[in-house]
Amino acid sequence: MRFQDTPELAAWRAQVREFVDRHWRAGAPAEDDDDSPFEAPQDEARVKAWLDRLAENGWIAPAWPKKYGGADMSVLEQFVLSQELHEAGAPTSRQMLNLVGPTIMLHGTEEQKAEHLPPMLRGEVAWCQGFSEPGSGSDLASLQARAVRDGDEYVVNGQKIWTSGAHRADWMFMLVRTDPDAPKHRGISYLLVDMKSPGITVRPLINMANGHVFNEVFFEDVRVPVRNRVGEENRGWYVGTTTLDFERSNIARAITARKNVERMARYVRGRAAAGRPVPPAYRLEVADRAIETAVCELLSFIVISIQARGGVPNMEASMCKMYGSELSQRVALTKMHLTGMTGQLRRFDGPEAVLGQSAAMEYMQVVPATIAAGTSEIQRNIIATRGLGLPRG
Ligand SMILES: Cc1cc2nc3c(=O)[nH]c(=O)nc-3n(C[C@H](O)[C@H](O)[C@H](O)COP(=O)(O)OP(=O)(O)OC[C@H]3O[C@@H](n4cnc5c(N)ncnc54)[C@H](O)[C@@H]3O)c2cc1C
Repeated sequence: MRFQDTPELAAWRAQVREFVDRHWRAGAPAEDDDDSPFEAPQDEARVKAWLDRLAENGWIAPAWPKKYGGADMSVLEQFVLSQELHEAGAPTSRQMLNLVGPTIMLHGTEEQKAEHLPPMLRGEVAWCQGFSEPGSGSDLASLQARAVRDGDEYVVNGQKIWTSGAHRADWMFMLVRTDPDAPKHRGISYLLVDMKSPGITVRPLINMANGHVFNEVFFEDVRVPVRNRVGEENRGWYVGTTTLDFERSNIARAITARKNVERMARYVRGRAAAGRPVPPAYRLEVADRAIETAVCELLSFIVISIQARGGVPNMEASMCKMYGSELSQRVALTKMHLTGMTGQLRRFDGPEAVLGQSAAMEYMQVVPATIAAGTSEIQRNIIATRGLGLPRG
């Protein structure tokens, strides 16, 4: 067993690091220590310039073919790139691109690819995901939004919910029911919908951290050209599950957890040096988070090694998602314990500042991690049934 890069990957990593130093770290504001994902929002112009640089190299969607603006990268090269960008706290891709892009590439027509992939990579369009409905989240295949064919168009009626970024999106990729009489997985189609279409209403849903991230979206006789359907009619479930497969494997959570553990360890050492040691129970809690972070990283390695051999991680991707999201909540809780009352403040300058600002805000922001993209219970079900062959129910 060897946890190290091959010479080729080591050279690639060095190239990425040099690029990140030159184009991302060099432009960082003096006070920005790059360590916390929960600092003040990033300078948009700087982010755009950086993403443009990535796009020029095909590094926004590194595994996509060059002809679609990618870099034809191997799974491992892409993994190294992703690791290095997350280590630097650098943005990695445009919104939703990794969800809808590969789906259009695999199942879309040439016309759809030409229309949507290039502007997606240039960051000229924002997308949102219209899957969940008020009665259909975990049991997504029970979705009720209806699309009825009328000549060259579908007429869509229904509601989507928890639609992240719908208030800023130009396009939505959505699942609709096109055959209500078929078994539930077989009557669904996958549509690309222009959010400016008449009949669409977007209403904000404010989350517990007082942020406007997601929305309710209502469809009233919305006309969608049939040419905007991806894949065959009534086969959209299988197109949609491609989308989900792309969502479930990443190293970002492990890296974020590790950086947080490093910060916490720095803080605890600093308190000891200042003669104000933290209670022993908190020290042990940080040690637990360090162990769990190592496990999380190893799970990411397992997922990527399966992909590198040409396999499709299934149970392993669920383990990775579930463990990483639950870990992010445990890390945030430990940070709350360490910062005490100070952690309630949005900004502070005391010794706790090393932990980043507002532990309470971070704590609230990670609550949905175990719900989005498949809840922990659903991930456990997948591990139990598909992974271990345990009986359902
Ligand atoms: C931050 C965030 C962003 C999101 N963004 C989007 C988006 O952009 N687009 C989109 O379409 N959706 C989005 N979602 C919705 C998300 O996909 C759903 O919330 C998720 O699938 C769960 O569905 P639900 O909320 O309907 O809960 P339900 O499915 O109703 O589940 C309720 C509870 O029951 C449990 N449960 C359900 N079924 C089972 C079962 N079979 N076995 C055991 N337990 C079960 C669940 O684990 C959960 O605890 C987002 C959610 C969050 C939190």
